[in-house]
Amino acid sequence: MRIALVSVGDEILSGDTVNTNAAWLGEQMTERGVAVERVVVVPDRVADIAREVNEALAEYDAVVVTGGLGPTHDDLTMEGVAAAVGVPVEEHPDAVAWVEEHTDYEHADLVPGTTHLPKGARMLPNPAGVAPGAEIEGVYVLPGVPGEMEAMFERVADEFSGEPLFRRVVDVDEPESALLDRIAELREEFDVSVGSYPGDVVRVKIEGADETTVEEAANWFREKTVAP
Ligand code: ATP
Ligand code: MG
Repeated sequence: MRIALVSVGDEILSGDTVNTNAAWLGEQMTERGVAVERVVVVPDRVADIAREVNEALAEYDAVVVTGGLGPTHDDLTMEGVAAAVGVPVEEHPDAVAWVEEHTDYEHADLVPGTTHLPKGARMLPNPAGVAPGAEIEGVYVLPGVPGEMEAMFERVADEFSGEPLFRRVVDVDEPESALLDRIAELREEFDVSVGSYPGDVVRVKIEGADETTVEEAANWFREKTVAP
């Protein structure tokens, strides 16, 4: 399964908020063997949200959108997602019922719009807040507040699955440029993917679908390089 993440919010683009939601979701997906192939940040603007979601939907198996739920003027995500799949936004009966049953709010007291979702969507309850999320045509719309996003994701997590990947990390105390030949040889000898991440040491990440192969590849590489 290949997916894209779309983070909505002017505050992320301006640098006021760090996009921890994308990092958290990336980790969850990787653990499940799901490949995150795009992370896009878009402003609170219907046309931008609609365009990115539409493009991602054409390319990936699912799209997870976070942020911009709820009824305030800058909460435009439901409208953007609805536009992307070509349906209107309307009051969702499941959302109304859920809010009345599970929160301290009466529906009449809620700011209008709180229970509006793309027509035909599946309502995703918000166990840690009020504004519900939604799923439509493989687009999952989750809240921006990290605690709410995580709680809502847990309830749909099983819908994200893929081939589990095994990983070994080998730290090397050599310049990255000196390793190129050995990394090339590693990739030729073993059926693994290799990433190298320079820092104080070079972290070489070896991944593959077969645990033994990954283990053997890591041992092979460790023997041929200088440990820190
Ligand atoms: P609300 O219903 O409270 O308006 P929301 O789902 O509309 O929530 P936003 O308004 O987009 O979410 O953001 C709410 C809070 O969550 C903000 O404080 C914002 O900084 C934080 N937030 C939003 N997106 C992210 C993100 N990608 N990573 C981390 N924090 C985020
Ligand atoms: Mg909001």
